[in-house]
Amino acid sequence: MKITEYFKKSQGQTLVSFEVLPPLKGGSMADIFSTLDPLMEFKPPFIDVTYHREEYVYNKQPSGYYEKTAIRKRPGTVGICASIMHRYGIDAIPHLICGGFNVEETENALIDLNFLGINNVLALRGDARQFEDKFIPENNGHKYAVDLVKQVNDMNHGIYLDSNIEKGSPTDFSIGVAGYPEKHFEAPNFETDIKYLKQKIDAGASYIVTQMFFDNTNFFRFRDACHAAGIHVPIVPGLKPLTRKYQLNSIPRKFFINFPEALVTEALKTEDKNIISLGIEWCIAQCIELKQAGVPCLHFYTMGDVDTTYKIVEKI
Ligand code: FAD
Repeated sequence: MKITEYFKKSQGQTLVSFEVLPPLKGGSMADIFSTLDPLMEFKPPFIDVTYHREEYVYNKQPSGYYEKTAIRKRPGTVGICASIMHRYGIDAIPHLICGGFNVEETENALIDLNFLGINNVLALRGDARQFEDKFIPENNGHKYAVDLVKQVNDMNHGIYLDSNIEKGSPTDFSIGVAGYPEKHFEAPNFETDIKYLKQKIDAGASYIVTQMFFDNTNFFRFRDACHAAGIHVPIVPGLKPLTRKYQLNSIPRKFFINFPEALVTEALKTEDKNIISLGIEWCIAQCIELKQAGVPCLHFYTMGDVDTTYKIVEKI
């Protein structure tokens, strides 16, 4: 079923959903199931599975030189989605990125998904490769997520890359895109970022999932700005609790977001072993306020931490 249909069917009730990462290469589906099995109690209508492009690793050779190799540390997104749908009978949403794909490869990936009965995707650009200071698309690959959305939307209208295909079978993908309550780090300003977000919606995306945030006022400001810009699709807040003190620095560095002063002050006073409780309490308060504000769904970035996610969701 399409994600937006779940939101319509829920008739104003806030749903919960989860995002999982493929296990590191060498891991197994048991890693994913052990995260998801306990969370199924909360009846998530869908599960997102992230996509990870290849990274460079440097291996020391007998000669003493280092050899640079590109490897994908977390492959398996599509297989995991199929497996989730098979085991739990719910929808799985693969993340699809521009990075590392040319348009032909993207089309083939979409055909695979379509044939597997996976008809929801989250269309993203992806980040720059390690050691590259900006995002570089593949030759004949997409530069921005909006171009990927357009390609998926074309296929939904039976338009394939090969113009000799006159009556292509239309796919039926529902397309989600990313939004940034505190602005995407490359955007020159908040307003410009919203303008580009609107382009993704106009190109065929039907809902937005946000980057994590710890201060709901940022989400509400973002939601208001979306409405003012003419974006009226469901906006799903993405949430992750603070669980370690070092995340006060690592999360802003990695995700370009801020922690609110009240949380930082509390966290600095709190012993390491009690940070998880503080993070859970803070996240529960965020969720309660977001629910009251009528968000369609609370989307949790589990990052493999099932216990913490469970403790939050059982309280909301
Ligand atoms: P875009 O929408 O393309 O935006 C990127 C930047 O370009 C922004 O600054 C935007 O303002 C600007 N921009 C957009 N369109 C234009 C235009 N036409 N002209 C000029 N500038 C423009 N990454 C992964 O690799 N795998 C994942 O599974 C993954 N999952 C994610 C899930 C969520 C919910 C979120 C929020 C992010 C996820 N990411 C993932 C990270 C994401 O790929 C990065 O944040 C990336 O840097 C931007 O992706 P985007 O789709 O928002 O890009």
